[in-house]
Amino acid sequence: MNEFIKEGFKRIRALWYLERSGCVFCGGHPSPICPICTRELLHPELGRCLRCGKLIVQERTLCKDCTEGKGPKYLKKVIAWGHYTGCLKEFIQNVKFGANPMRMMQISRPLADWAIRELPPVDGILAVPMHSTRLAERGFNQAELIASLIHWELGLPILQGVKRVKATPPQVSLSRQERLQNLKNAFALQSKELFQGRSVWLIDDVTTTGSTLDAVAEVLYKGGAKEVYGLCLAAGFEKVLVPGFD
Ligand SMILES: [Zn+2]
Ligand SMILES: [Zn+2]
Repeated sequence: MNEFIKEGFKRIRALWYLERSGCVFCGGHPSPICPICTRELLHPELGRCLRCGKLIVQERTLCKDCTEGKGPKYLKKVIAWGHYTGCLKEFIQNVKFGANPMRMMQISRPLADWAIRELPPVDGILAVPMHSTRLAERGFNQAELIASLIHWELGLPILQGVKRVKATPPQVSLSRQERLQNLKNAFALQSKELFQGRSVWLIDDVTTTGSTLDAVAEVLYKGGAKEVYGLCLAAGFEKVLVPGFD
């Protein structure tokens, strides 16, 4: 009887916390991600552009830019969990600029479940590195935080050995041409042999054109990497092909 009551309390407590925590993005129910946010932010019904990760209609494999050859060239496949808008955008910005890294832990399970469904298993995961100046300003690298959650959930080893050697302005404010120029020689391998024959999930928080991921992938391939896949929390979507979205 005693055990029965204890068990009962445990369940009530678990439900209470579950109930209080709510949807990570909107606070609604159920936890951790409610059906509305799943539908409006994660868009499981949409496809992802193979090259840059942008959300696109299911029937297509590439977005318009990538069809025209303007997309990433080195990445084997890029996936983005959701659309960089609304509550997902707020969530990412809150973690990043609000010095709130703990919030990211709430999404670790659903994110890892999705990642392992979408990408083949690899030898290890690598976070897009941040320049030391930016790291000192912010205190942590959001991409590393995501990588550590995936490592924790899936047991994939964390790889290191790429350095951001050029302090670059944020990509988001730049044109495509400026982005490419900005990223030229921005990353370097710390040791030549590190990625020889290895397959990698390359992790970042947000991608727009995929050019940052691609610049790191280029360095990895030149260092002998076998396959590099990109994985991001959020990306844009192709407005032209999906009318009705904001
Ligand atoms: Zn929600
Ligand atoms: Zn694309």
